Amino acid sequence: MRAVRYHGPGKPFRLEDVPVPQTGPGEVRVRIRAAGMCHTELHFESGLLDLGVAPLTMGHEMAGEIDQVGEGVNSSRLGERVLVYYYSGCGECGWCRRGDENLCDALKAEYGFFNDGAYAEHIVVPARNAVPLPESLSFAEAAPVGCGVTTALHAIALSRLQEGEVVVVYGIGSVGYGLVQVARLRGARVVAVGRTQAKLDLARELGAHEVVNVAEGAGDLPARIRDLTGGRGADVVFELVATRDTMEASTAMLAKRGRLVFIGYSQDAYTVHPIHLVINEAVVTASVGNTLKELKEALALVGDGKVRTVVDRSLPLEAWEEGMKALREGTALGRTILTP
Ligand SMILES: [Zn+2]
Ligand SMILES: [Zn+2]
Repeated sequence: MRAVRYHGPGKPFRLEDVPVPQTGPGEVRVRIRAAGMCHTELHFESGLLDLGVAPLTMGHEMAGEIDQVGEGVNSSRLGERVLVYYYSGCGECGWCRRGDENLCDALKAEYGFFNDGAYAEHIVVPARNAVPLPESLSFAEAAPVGCGVTTALHAIALSRLQEGEVVVVYGIGSVGYGLVQVARLRGARVVAVGRTQAKLDLARELGAHEVVNVAEGAGDLPARIRDLTGGRGADVVFELVATRDTMEASTAMLAKRGRLVFIGYSQDAYTVHPIHLVINEAVVTASVGNTLKELKEALALVGDGKVRTVVDRSLPLEAWEEGMKALREGTALGRTILTP
């Protein structure tokens, strides 16, 4: 089968022929129909994210149908339309027992990070990782739930968001659209911040109460956020950009007991004088990935039409370079989907 693979930091991805994986006991094979392209792949490409595993098939957002079942898996699942959960925890450590599989001490697999992922025609995963899709969702609409929407749900849970609080979503893309919609559902006042007016317009359409374009720079952003909130500032800031300028602004706009939640990262380090945190009892925290329970919740929200995924375009697998270019240049309005 064909797969787009990573070959180590700083080396270009390559479209290659690899063997079709076969199921073992308790596993299913998914014929991948839609794979979302995430910023994470840019971090692999640039070498910022180097997990030491190569070659590796990229991608961790995928939907498709089950085309093979291993021993012990009910054959009635053949043909089932599914979304793949990309972590496979040990099931035994303290984190897994609490349901925090994304922090597992002994991960069995993390598809698209340590194990072959979604930019391919097939993948084999444990049967529990293949979650049935609501009828109403196409594969392309469903794929961005796997990382985009589910990561948003996870970050909102960690932020301890309360009804009536002010949320700033700094950086609008697949996770950003998810954050805007879920925060609004939870009763927050939502401000979307970005540099591309079309993405901000879409964020407003999806439920952002205010949008702020910082194409001219983030210098006066904290003052603008305080203006919009009667001087209060942001109770929660989700950082999806995390460059030096945005991190400075994100910290300066925090309300008393505000929470700055890192989801994205760049080459830049975060530096802050503790006084800026101390005087407001501000909290700096971070969010990585999501849990299986959250993926099921996210699928239900999208299936019920309460949250929408945004698909920019669908491309055949061999056009993956066009998708990477759109990611790099930030020209895609929503997710670019590969259809292997
Ligand atoms: Zn992702
Ligand atoms: Zn574990």
